Amino acid sequence: MKQNLLGMNQNNLKSFITSLGEKAFRSKQIYQWIHQKGIDDFYKMTNISKELQFKLSETAEIRAPKIVFEKDSQDGTRKWVLNVGNNDFVEMVLIPEGNRATLCVSSQVGCAVDCSFCATGKQGFSRNLDLAEIIGQVWVAENSFGVPRDHAQKRVTNVVMMGMGEPLLNFDAVTGAMEMMMDDQAYGLSKRKVTLSTSGLVPLIDKLSDVTDAALTISLHAPNDILRNELVPINKKYPIAQLLDSVIRYVEKCGDKRKTTIEYILINKVNDSIDHATELCSLLKILPCKINLIPFNPFPGSNYKRPSSMRIQTFKKILQQNGYITTIRTTRGEDIMAACGQLVGQVNDRTRKRERAQKKIQAKVIN
Ligand code: SAH
Ligand code: SF4
Repeated sequence: MKQNLLGMNQNNLKSFITSLGEKAFRSKQIYQWIHQKGIDDFYKMTNISKELQFKLSETAEIRAPKIVFEKDSQDGTRKWVLNVGNNDFVEMVLIPEGNRATLCVSSQVGCAVDCSFCATGKQGFSRNLDLAEIIGQVWVAENSFGVPRDHAQKRVTNVVMMGMGEPLLNFDAVTGAMEMMMDDQAYGLSKRKVTLSTSGLVPLIDKLSDVTDAALTISLHAPNDILRNELVPINKKYPIAQLLDSVIRYVEKCGDKRKTTIEYILINKVNDSIDHATELCSLLKILPCKINLIPFNPFPGSNYKRPSSMRIQTFKKILQQNGYITTIRTTRGEDIMAACGQLVGQVNDRTRKRERAQKKIQAKVIN
């Protein structure tokens, strides 16, 4: 089988190229062709010899996930559905905003954490994406601006690991891809522009601080354990106090004064009362953070509702009065089902497979 060069970082590509009997510096040229210019045809890599072009075409390939569906929302948000083989599909969303364009990247096909409000969780879990499939999403999105890429043009400026899946449960591939996003020879994004969002797997947050200092976002969604156990089941294993401690350790280890972002989904009459807001304020006193409120995005089969804008504004006001920088995430791409929590990869009915996989993985995650 041909080696997919898309999923190789600089070191791995160097080993591969030298194993072909070529000089190491060639690997840097090829790496740049792939990740800076968006080229997937060795014969278009004009500064390498014909002989090497041929050798590469015989042994290697640059294979990104295949686009099966692409749609623009009225608000400029673009959603792609990508085929990653074997009837598995993931979604990716690009959200332009002024000079920025934020790409929301998936890490898994489905998700085993099974939060009660999340369409991806309800879909069950199929498998982890590999490194090529994760960095391949950035590659595909960048190429949507035109190939060869023109770096003077607007392109992906921020990446958030907030698509389908729990990124920390696919640790090596996700951190490997994030490293490439931040690599100057590849996508060159700064550590503040690459964000990992997690439902809160404490040991893996600690492990994360050993390998990266990218931005961290915590999906909290509840101000106490009783409610969080219901919304984010992983909380039964890693309760809030442990979670917040691990975030404090993460920020300390990164050694900068960044504020962590706390995500809080607002679900009508579930976690959006004045009491919840007040409880949240006292809970978060120990952590320098800002709060991003996400009004619940409905999806078929869910009984939850989005609160009225009055309830949302009241909640926000309480947090602000207590000194928290608070934003409300405006819903984007709703008309194309691209909003947070609506990503399901357009999966066909495969309920039985899903249920089996879910039981297996949940047992693994929770125990
Ligand atoms: N698994 C990770 C990252 C992907 S989920 C995590 O949970 O953090 C990305 C964000 O979308 C999370 O903050 C999640 O809570 C939010 N989300 C999930 N379902 C949602 C829904 N139905 N409406 C609004 N936001 C949702
Ligand atoms: Fe998984 Fe995140 Fe959805 Fe929870 S919110 S089920 S962790 S993708």
